[in-house]
Amino acid sequence: MADGKIAAAGPAPELLAYLPPNTPIEHHSGKLILPGFIDLHIHLPQTKVIASYGAQLMEWLERYTFVEEARYADPAVAEKGAAFFLDELFRNGTTTAVVYGSVHAQSAEALFADSARRGSAMIAGKVMMDRGAPEALLDTAQSSYDDSKALIDHWHGKDRQLYAVTPRFAITSTPAQLEAAGALLKEHPGVYLQTHLSENRAEVDYVRSLYPDAEDYAGVYESFGLLGPRSLMGHCLHLSPREQARMAESRSVAVLCPTSNLFLGSGLADRQTLQSNGVRTGLATDVGGGTSYSMLRTAAEAYKVEQLRGRSLPAHEAFRWITRGNAEALGMETEIGSIKVGRYADLVVLDSAATPAMAHRMERCESLEEELFVLLTLGDDRAIAATYIRGTAARTA
Ligand SMILES: [Zn+2]
Repeated sequence: MADGKIAAAGPAPELLAYLPPNTPIEHHSGKLILPGFIDLHIHLPQTKVIASYGAQLMEWLERYTFVEEARYADPAVAEKGAAFFLDELFRNGTTTAVVYGSVHAQSAEALFADSARRGSAMIAGKVMMDRGAPEALLDTAQSSYDDSKALIDHWHGKDRQLYAVTPRFAITSTPAQLEAAGALLKEHPGVYLQTHLSENRAEVDYVRSLYPDAEDYAGVYESFGLLGPRSLMGHCLHLSPREQARMAESRSVAVLCPTSNLFLGSGLADRQTLQSNGVRTGLATDVGGGTSYSMLRTAAEAYKVEQLRGRSLPAHEAFRWITRGNAEALGMETEIGSIKVGRYADLVVLDSAATPAMAHRMERCESLEEELFVLLTLGDDRAIAATYIRGTAARTA
């Protein structure tokens, strides 16, 4: 390890022979060392919304989510929230995440500041929302542009932090605000765009009524220049063939969120059709609509969604998806997502025998593929033996 990056990788007996004397050694014998997990869609101000009962998307937003997000107007709440949030990500082996803040600039500010202090790479943005929510949670097209621009100028590319322009979704942004989002992308090449697309059928119908001139939901974003290779579109459950074609041509990423989609009853993602239509896909928790911070739990639910569609998801493919695959979705595969010389040493150590049930099951395990599948099906934060950020144990708050 040098400057937080991997200096050499290989079997321990080979590497140990070349280590300079007095190099500190940490032993993880019998465990698996993997690249840290990457979560492509998660909401910072929803750590106290997770596990809220009995609603589908639009009602869930009004009844639980907007109420909690309003509390982030207080910078002290944002700072405490960010500290808990990063602790919880690292405890679950997630070393990079793409994060929605609240509408308040201080939510993104708090996350970036804490992440920079801990050395991790986070991508985040303050939510842009100028209609369709309580007054206390609304910005304006102009103020959202100004606040986002100030955050980009301060944080994008600094200390491993990257900015994502974050209009929540078409329902809570006026055309003027989506135009402002498009302007931010044009003026700052290299920043990301994150939003929600086609999560829930009632949402899709509502978008059509708000944007009657648009061809379809994806067409709304397209008309404001919001599709592209750095655009992370959450959910993508009910896309038409035309929308999928536009996603593929623009190289936008469909970010699938299985625990959230099952919990809110939104639908089952059709990963195979998206992929065969050339749409890039990523995987994410979507906490607090999602029900777990763990990318293991998330991949396990993705497996079950595939099963409901009569298909499967091999464990090695699932693990590739939540590491290198998500890094590729971000265009960051030369920095994170694999264990290779020159990549950041953002790592997770997995214990396949972390619980009595796992240890018991592992007595019948005969291959690495099987071990990975046990981790995926039975694993959660208890299976994370250690998390490293830039080669040192992840710092907690
Ligand atoms: Zn979301």
